[in-house]
Amino acid sequence: NVRVRFAPSPTGPLHIGGVRTALFNYLFAKKHGGDFILRIEDTDQNRYVEGAEQYIIDALNWCGMPFDEGPNKNEKFGPYRQSERKALYKQYALQLIESGNAYYAFDTAEELDAHRKDHEANGKTFIYNWHNRQKLSNSLALSSDEVKAKIDSGEDYVIRFKSPQDETLHLKDIVRGDIKIDTNILDDKVLFKADGMPTYHLANIVDDHLMEITHVIRGEEWLPSLALHYQLYDALGWEAPQFAHLPLILKPTGKGKLSKRDGDKLGFPVFPLEWTDPKSNEVSRGYKEDGYFSESVVNFLAFLGWNPGTEQELFSLEELTQAFDLEKVNKAGARFDPDKIKWFNHHYMQQQNDALIAERYKQSQPELKDIDVNYIEMVVSLIKERASFVSDLWELSSFFFEAPASYDEKASKKAFKEGTKDILTTVAELVNNTEDFTVENLQNTIKGWITNNDIGFGKVMMPLRLALVGALQGPDVFDIIYMIGKNETVKRINAVIA
Ligand code: GLU
Repeated sequence: NVRVRFAPSPTGPLHIGGVRTALFNYLFAKKHGGDFILRIEDTDQNRYVEGAEQYIIDALNWCGMPFDEGPNKNEKFGPYRQSERKALYKQYALQLIESGNAYYAFDTAEELDAHRKDHEANGKTFIYNWHNRQKLSNSLALSSDEVKAKIDSGEDYVIRFKSPQDETLHLKDIVRGDIKIDTNILDDKVLFKADGMPTYHLANIVDDHLMEITHVIRGEEWLPSLALHYQLYDALGWEAPQFAHLPLILKPTGKGKLSKRDGDKLGFPVFPLEWTDPKSNEVSRGYKEDGYFSESVVNFLAFLGWNPGTEQELFSLEELTQAFDLEKVNKAGARFDPDKIKWFNHHYMQQQNDALIAERYKQSQPELKDIDVNYIEMVVSLIKERASFVSDLWELSSFFFEAPASYDEKASKKAFKEGTKDILTTVAELVNNTEDFTVENLQNTIKGWITNNDIGFGKVMMPLRLALVGALQGPDVFDIIYMIGKNETVKRINAVIA
């Protein structure tokens, strides 16, 4: 049984890269009839941000990818917040000490900092491992009495993994294939901290093991941790899950990683939902509030690092589930193209139910407060092919609701010629006299009159459109006349020739 987890840290709003990770986990789980688990990795209390967990859940739900197990839901392997699993981790750190795979270290933050600076001054990076363990303050450098005395006196310690010397590790990644790592470049990473909390590494693999995770699908930034994770599974005598590291998401220019700050700088959201920072009250834009459909966001994100190997670009979540395959995930970074997501939105706008769009349109446009929603729905059906967002609709359709406030100057010059006034007066009469007021009848009457009198379509239709719309754009003139009605049409014609 496939079991995957999305394991965000609640350190702020989930950014779009996190949503992509969640999506790939979700698709993989559903494709294989497996379980999609949400685990909240909140062991770093300093970075905890109020409201972030709820935001993550809301974002997953908005995208249509609810988790099967997680906080307050189907807690078979719970709890699903690491802070609530705190008591669980230390025994594994101790087990690793016992088996010789980990050790206590007493170096203070200041001491470590001094070492780091020292190394940097010589153009080197400070690595804490076999080559200098003896010179540092840890249980491998001290006598057992010294170690005992330090612990008994309540001195702060951490527990570090004992990374082996001169070994080659063979790692496997579904996206990257086989990876070889020389252990001499690895740090003795901290597994357990002075505050009694496990670090990400320990908590992460303990939980993946206890929650019976079969596949770990996460961002490429975790690839450097893979060696340690493999070693931890091994040292604890557990079978490791399979791993897949998803490629970086790059800035629109293709240069450098897309960051949380890029959105504001470059003018597009990098978060699924709007977020108000609880401390600064600063608001970050979200795709949802910017008028994107979740279908567009999901479809767009699916293509950041994956493609079906065919020409097809439009996929529902259901279709993605069918087509998704971890083997088709690319290694190369995926460029984030904000225009592409607009393109998707245009498409999904066309697919949405008109009634639903009308509802949203009505809610977002104060001028529509008292307008019958069925009328709005008819308007939507006439114009939406030119819209990508609900917010595009007003500009495309205001004339269905109110007379033009002004007439486009260029258009007026083009439409108004000698004789136009008489023509429009007759058109107003024709409209007024149309008994059975249907689009078809209107069309027959006016077009018939034009043909019979050999006037030329442009001479009639252009000024007529100008009268109704205020410009020379818009949907079919007869649709507009039908929608706004006899009286309003006559009124608008009279206004333009006045
Ligand atoms: N808590 C980590 C994060 O915030 C999880 C990484 C992983 O999936 O192992 O991304």
